[in-house]
Amino acid sequence: MALYKTRALVIKSINLSESDRIITFMTENQGKVKCVAKGARKIKNRFWGALEPMSLIHLIYFGKEHQNLFRLNHSDIIESFQTIRDDFNKLYTGVYFLDLIDSMILEGHRENKIFTLLYQSLAALNQQTELEPLRRLFEIRLLSLSGYTPQLEHCVLCKSLPENGMIPFSYAHNGILCNACSNRARIDIKFSTGTRNYIKKLLDVEIKTCERLKFPKSQTDEIEKVTHRLILSHLGRELKSYPFIKNMAELARNS
Ligand SMILES: [Zn+2]
Repeated sequence: MALYKTRALVIKSINLSESDRIITFMTENQGKVKCVAKGARKIKNRFWGALEPMSLIHLIYFGKEHQNLFRLNHSDIIESFQTIRDDFNKLYTGVYFLDLIDSMILEGHRENKIFTLLYQSLAALNQQTELEPLRRLFEIRLLSLSGYTPQLEHCVLCKSLPENGMIPFSYAHNGILCNACSNRARIDIKFSTGTRNYIKKLLDVEIKTCERLKFPKSQTDEIEKVTHRLILSHLGRELKSYPFIKNMAELARNS
C-alpha cells in the first residue's frame, strides 16, 4: 500500500452505496485518479464540502500502485471557485471543461500539464466575464496537450504556405491545405486568415489574459466550428454538457 499526497481538482462524484461515493480527481502529480470516499454521503462528514466538482483540494489517498480504484483518506479545500457556481453561464462552462477532461484523459498517466491547464482555466473562469475565448482556448490546448495540435502554419500535405482567401481544412489530416492539395483530400471546412490567426493565438496566449483576444462577432462561430469540431472528430461523439453551453453562449451574445 502506498499513501499519496497531492493537490487535485474534483472532476466528478457519483453515488456508490447509501453512504459511499466514487470521486474522480485530476491530480497534480498522479494524473486522473478515482477514489472511494467512505461515508461521504453522510451529512456532517468531514469530507463533505471539499468534494464538490471544480474544487481545488489537498488530497490524501492510498492503495496499490496499479489499481484503478483508491481509498480517499483526507481532503482539505484550498479554493472552491464559488464565483463559478454563482453564475449559470460560468457554471456550465466549468462543467464542460470537467466533461472534456473526464472523456479525453485516461487514468494512470501522469499529466501535470493537463492539471495546470484545468487549474488555470478554472481560475480564469472565476475572474473573466467574456467566456468565448476561454472555451475555445481550453478545447484547443487540451487537444494540443493530448498530441493533436492542428497544423496551421503550412499545407499538411506539401508544406506550402497558405494562399490568400479562404483556407481549406481537413479534420482527417488535422491541418490546413493549399488549393492544389485540396483537390486530393476531403475538405471539411474553409476559414478566413483571421480565424487561423485567432486559433494560433489561443495556442500560446497566457490563460489569465485570454479574454483580451475579444473575437469579432463575425468570426466567433467560425472559430468555434474549428475547435469544437476538432474535439468531436477526436472523441467521435458530442459531450452531454455541450448543447447547453452553446445555447447559453448564444443567449449571452444576443442579449
Ligand atoms: Zn499542399
